Amino acid sequence: MRRVLASVVVLLALPASASANAALAPLDYAAPTASVSRGAPLTFAVRTAAPDGSVVVRVSGHDEVDADGLLTGPDGTWLDETAAQATTDLAVWSVPADSVLRQRPGHYYWQAYLTGDAATSAEEPVGPVQELTVTLPYADKGRGTLFPKYGRRGATQRFYLSSAGFPGTVTGARFQKVVRTAASRWGLRALRWTSVEAGVRDGFNVAGFSSSVEAGVLGVQTDYVKRGKVVESDLALNASENWNAGPDYPALDQIDLESVVLHELGHMAGNKKHRARCTNSPMIEALGAGEWWRGARDKWFDTCAASAATVGSKRFAHRIARVDSAPLR
Ligand SMILES: [Zn+2]
Repeated sequence: MRRVLASVVVLLALPASASANAALAPLDYAAPTASVSRGAPLTFAVRTAAPDGSVVVRVSGHDEVDADGLLTGPDGTWLDETAAQATTDLAVWSVPADSVLRQRPGHYYWQAYLTGDAATSAEEPVGPVQELTVTLPYADKGRGTLFPKYGRRGATQRFYLSSAGFPGTVTGARFQKVVRTAASRWGLRALRWTSVEAGVRDGFNVAGFSSSVEAGVLGVQTDYVKRGKVVESDLALNASENWNAGPDYPALDQIDLESVVLHELGHMAGNKKHRARCTNSPMIEALGAGEWWRGARDKWFDTCAASAATVGSKRFAHRIARVDSAPLR
């Protein structure tokens, strides 16, 4: 707001020849800054001489733009809000406290553009795209042990990391970091790399990716049980998913790797029950794209009033494979 005196007020009514002046900028952004804290007040302010009701703020989860330079993307990944005229040359949109934009940490992209007669007479009716990062306060970051609050602690389980079948979106180094951290939060321990495949009964506890996981299932945790005793425990993540390896939060079309690993390793720690969708727990039954649970105050679930099926959430699965028919020794 301190840019008031320095900013250039543009006369949109100038004839086309005069508006060819390169110094003219029809939409001059005064706020917000590039980064705001979750929950903090958030106001988009655009300095312009355009009449009331003709300035729209568009915010998107993607930086993709169409031929006109307008942010675009699948339905539901961007929003438009008409800014209100605050002074003769300032249009603002004060974002309500319950808006996704003030509640959900992450990276967003925004711009202002003109509509109606103001757009027709403007040389550049679409303003430049700016990035906005909504940050989570450090104290709210997900870390620390998950037992006993969300389940019991893993007893003696140790498992290998499978190097087989990695998707292009996840590096080995990142996977190792995510899994090791999640394992320690459950009292488990991730061991060295192996080329052994995850989700195959081979005598090794293995966590990794697999192309054999059915579509719509994020990961399958399998316990191989012999005479009532778990003799092998595997975790196979769906290699075909659009994974967000972090540490950034997932985009609206990405599945959060850390959330899924925390969930699945909870099973490996011996917690077999699922909780209802949107419960404050890593053991929820389903997770949608763009959602995460990394800690009690580091979580985001979209449209919790709707059922998992109607919002396109993906399931978690675990299975108990009985191997009692194996030869007795
Ligand atoms: Zn599960």
